[in-house]
Amino acid sequence: MKVLVTGGAGFIGSHLVDRLVDGGHDVIVLDKFSGGNKLDPKTIEKIDLIEGDVRNEETVHQVTKGCDLVYHLAGYLGVDAETMETETLGIRNVGNACIAGGVERLIYISSSGVYGKAAIEQDVDEDFLAAPISSYAIAKRYNEIYLQALFQEKHLQSCSLRYFNVYGPRQDERMVIPRFFYQALKGEPLTVYGNGQQTRDFTYIDDVIEATVLLAERFQGCEIVNIAKGEDASIVEIANKIIALTKSNSEVALIELPQGRYDLEVQRRCGNSDKLKRIAGFIPSLPLDEGLKKIFEFIENSSPVAGQMERPSHMLESGHQR
Ligand code: UDP
Repeated sequence: MKVLVTGGAGFIGSHLVDRLVDGGHDVIVLDKFSGGNKLDPKTIEKIDLIEGDVRNEETVHQVTKGCDLVYHLAGYLGVDAETMETETLGIRNVGNACIAGGVERLIYISSSGVYGKAAIEQDVDEDFLAAPISSYAIAKRYNEIYLQALFQEKHLQSCSLRYFNVYGPRQDERMVIPRFFYQALKGEPLTVYGNGQQTRDFTYIDDVIEATVLLAERFQGCEIVNIAKGEDASIVEIANKIIALTKSNSEVALIELPQGRYDLEVQRRCGNSDKLKRIAGFIPSLPLDEGLKKIFEFIENSSPVAGQMERPSHMLESGHQR
């Protein structure tokens, strides 16, 4: 198949592209490299890599033409106008380009952030009321609804995937797990926000990619599906595991939440993966301990640059909003 991956040079995109290339597909990547280029040089030789912005209608129409399937991942965390425009203009351009170019199936990467604080009480399934609170999550929810409208009006089949905290090699240190590894390996305190009892459903990247590819093959019509493990872990527990694994002298520091996160922090987030199991026949299951070990092995086998353990400038910020 000929497949387009927007945002294919990012953390999740680069793993997806590796998998698609291994599966023998013709892959086109559209990326503007705002988060650098995480694609393996060996993979780059085997794909069509195009630098461009999903906000540009003409570019999106050109790269979409003749594709059998589109994975739309391009986007980034934030609260600024560019983040929002990338979401809203991106979906409009990609959706319309699929319709104009005869592409029948679209996979869109949404986020468990759409559940907002509603996710506290129970393991949320897709019928649970989405109540996003950050602008990023509001844009994700808007796009899910937009795709439902495109299905009704133009018959474009699509599946929106609500990823729950994905982690793995190549992820940058704005996210909690790589950040804690960085701090542990530098002997710095691990910055746990609040009391550290907040939980997340951490899903390992290889499992997430497997689920994504299977869903792309098997979904019908227009769907929204959680990509979750159905098991949550507390942040302080993760900090302690990383200290033990790296044999670090670092300590856990319970610190106040940064300004930008204060009102957005969710105490518990865990996803129900029944629907994923029903459609894809697969759910993420790699235990957290094993996923952490894989990241540590990756860091140990990488040069400082390849392992991306250089602290990017945004690490110096107090936090990000999503
Ligand atoms: N977190 C933390 N210390 C950090 C970074 C994050 O305690 O240095 C916590 C954060 O408060 C949240 C969890 O880790 O409860 C996951 O944060 P992340 O930004 O990775 O993803 P989120 O689920 O907030 O989108």
